[in-house]
Amino acid sequence: MKFASRLHPHDQATFRQALFSGIAPDGGLYHPVDHPDLSALIAAFDESVTFNDVAALVSAALLAPEIDEAAARRIAGRAFSFAPRLVRIDGGRLLLELFHGPTCAFKDFGARFLAASMEELLEGERCQILVATSGDTGSAVANAFHNRANIDVILLYPSGRVSALQEQQLTTLGGNVHAIEVRGSFDDCQRLVKAAFRDRRLRAALRLTSANSINIGRLLPQSFYFIHAAAQRRVLSGAPPRFCVPSGNFGNLTAGLYAWHWGMEAAGFLAATNINDVVPDYLKSGVYTPRPSLRTLSNAMDVGHPGNFERMEQLFDGNWRGMKAVVGSGVVDDERTLWSMHQLSSRFGMLVDPHTAVGCAVAEDFIEGSKRGGEQVVVLATAHPGKFAETVKKATGHEPELPERLARCLALPKQALAMGPELAELSTFLLERFA
Ligand SMILES: *Cc1c(COP(=O)(O)O)cnc(C)c1O
Repeated sequence: MKFASRLHPHDQATFRQALFSGIAPDGGLYHPVDHPDLSALIAAFDESVTFNDVAALVSAALLAPEIDEAAARRIAGRAFSFAPRLVRIDGGRLLLELFHGPTCAFKDFGARFLAASMEELLEGERCQILVATSGDTGSAVANAFHNRANIDVILLYPSGRVSALQEQQLTTLGGNVHAIEVRGSFDDCQRLVKAAFRDRRLRAALRLTSANSINIGRLLPQSFYFIHAAAQRRVLSGAPPRFCVPSGNFGNLTAGLYAWHWGMEAAGFLAATNINDVVPDYLKSGVYTPRPSLRTLSNAMDVGHPGNFERMEQLFDGNWRGMKAVVGSGVVDDERTLWSMHQLSSRFGMLVDPHTAVGCAVAEDFIEGSKRGGEQVVVLATAHPGKFAETVKKATGHEPELPERLARCLALPKQALAMGPELAELSTFLLERFA
């Protein structure tokens, strides 16, 4: 697989180049140039295949000869000491639990594969990972890279817009992990990161690399759990499922669409959002209108200009009808999110976090509106309910358990540098510290 930006499709990068530069030389996102047909490989997977095997075999099939099977097994082995779990909710809905990693959110999968790939491909040079985070990205990335030799991590997060626990996870690691508290929104943080990557002086002095979902090395491994879930045919009662993806920056949904493009069978996809609904709006109207993000209970999905939309569009050659035929959507406000959490708790004794609740509500509406019976909808459970204990308690009256690995960081002192949302301040810090 080779990668290129949309404007310069002939200026192609290897996986290694795309991994370390993060963004193409023209400032655009990297897209896979060709999508291989992996349908035979994927069809051969069944219940007995481990997540690690899926990760190793699919990444080798995508990235050979750069990553051969032995390298792919080393990367998967170092990255994934945990696996997804598929759990039934009711007749039509299942949860794909993606929160069994070290920071209890799905972003561990992408971040750890990225870190392990860089470790495999880094040739003695020093690099700086620069990340904008709305919460979970930062902690997953910080954790994945913490204490790795020759890598510095710089995290930008919006002041006052991440939960107390998320902030503790971002700011207490220390060592090679530097947290920057930006006076602004997540979109400001993302804009700053993009501006830093475009800045000539920074590019000359540092080896800047991204690790949020715009990095192809984080995006590709997110396809593995769609493929692994689709192979659980017995649990799914035989039929290819529909995947319902709680979405913000749309990395997860894009990865699912890639898997489908490579030959994974799926009945379709559902893009589930909170009131930050630019993509559902596009699917309805054919017009894409980014706008400032609004704050909601599912704060990791408060994105007004999703970075990965361009990749979804590219996959369908800009054909709106083509995308609409595969991707449905639903929009859920905070009130419905709380109600969905309440219902899952009272009817099934399940506690879910607010992001997963958005997906569960959209799946419920889809099944109710579906004329065909027997639809199996797999909802991606993106975070552990313990990460959003306050909201869970408010919605259900129950206090979710906080996993031990999260409880530990609550007691540590916060270390963060406060900054305004301007590139000048960030670039001074970067040059003084790392050039
Ligand atoms: C990041 C995140 C999302 C949104 O995922 P995207 O890939 O950005 O669409 C949803 N839920 C949680 C818990 C997240 O951390």
